[in-house]
Amino acid sequence: DRSAGRVGGLNPVNGDSDAKNLRVKLVLLGDSGVGKTCIVLRFVRGQFDPTSKVTVGASFLSQTIALQDSTTVKFEIWDTAGQERYAALAPLYYRGAAVAVIAYDITNPDSFHKAQHWVKELQKHGSPDIVLALVGNKADLQEKREVSVQDGIDYAEKNGMFFIETSAKTADNINQLFEEIAKRLPRPSPS
Ligand code: GDP
Repeated sequence: DRSAGRVGGLNPVNGDSDAKNLRVKLVLLGDSGVGKTCIVLRFVRGQFDPTSKVTVGASFLSQTIALQDSTTVKFEIWDTAGQERYAALAPLYYRGAAVAVIAYDITNPDSFHKAQHWVKELQKHGSPDIVLALVGNKADLQEKREVSVQDGIDYAEKNGMFFIETSAKTADNINQLFEEIAKRLPRPSPS
């Protein structure tokens, strides 16, 4: 299941989830340039293509994964497509999100601090049971690393978040990121 499209209005999400097939809205946050679009394109299309970048407005892609217990999770992934520069992005974008992936670039300490800003924002405005994932991207650039693994772990632990380092370039831990999120989703009770 692969689809791409522009988002016009804002749809209620999680609406047609059942115990076996979850459908969740996932929002991506983080400083511009940390690799959010590349992470999504790697996950959804299996490619690293830094040139294909949407320029205006929020866009989304969706991707379904199957878990070992035969449940499926369809992620509807919202990328800010550059709008993270505008403070006014917030509540409309977060609304109905079951998951927020907050990314930074391990070579850029400033992006790590920006990530912490987004975590606070989500803790304030996100839904109370939102799954928060902290992602240190560009892990392939070890020689340029300026944010330690331990700093990521410590911050995530303090804030009850899942933490992982990824590389959209080499595909390291990209699928694992989404699988681990899927495992942490609250399950609707079977009816
Ligand atoms: P966004 O603004 O957060 O959506 O960032 P993009 O996905 O547009 O990526 C910004 C830049 O970082 C691009 O030039 C990408 O090629 C580069 N980039 C993204 N992910 C990685 C990664 O994992 N490793 C490396 N080395 N570069 C990356």
